[in-house]
Amino acid sequence: MTYQEYLKTDHWQRVRLKIFSRYHRLCAMCRTSYLLNAHHIRYTKDGKSIWFREATDDLILFCRTCHKTLHTAEGIDMERFKRQTQLMSCG
Ligand SMILES: [Zn+2]
Ligand SMILES: [Zn+2]
Repeated sequence: MTYQEYLKTDHWQRVRLKIFSRYHRLCAMCRTSYLLNAHHIRYTKDGKSIWFREATDDLILFCRTCHKTLHTAEGIDMERFKRQTQLMSCG
């Protein structure tokens, strides 16, 4: 299964909604409610893929602008996320 396929699963849709409600549909960085994406803080747990078993702590909600900034590692407080953030993909 590719990441794009994973994003279409019912499981992911449920996880995504959980993240949206946890962050009150606001970007964790700038608090906008416009164009939000759930972002995986980490992709593996116990050396295995995190797909289908994400905890809410494994994801964060960003708007498109902050998300893009995070992925290009410019102008964002990376120290806050560095410990867990490895690889980037989004949903
Ligand atoms: Zn934002
Ligand atoms: Zn992302």
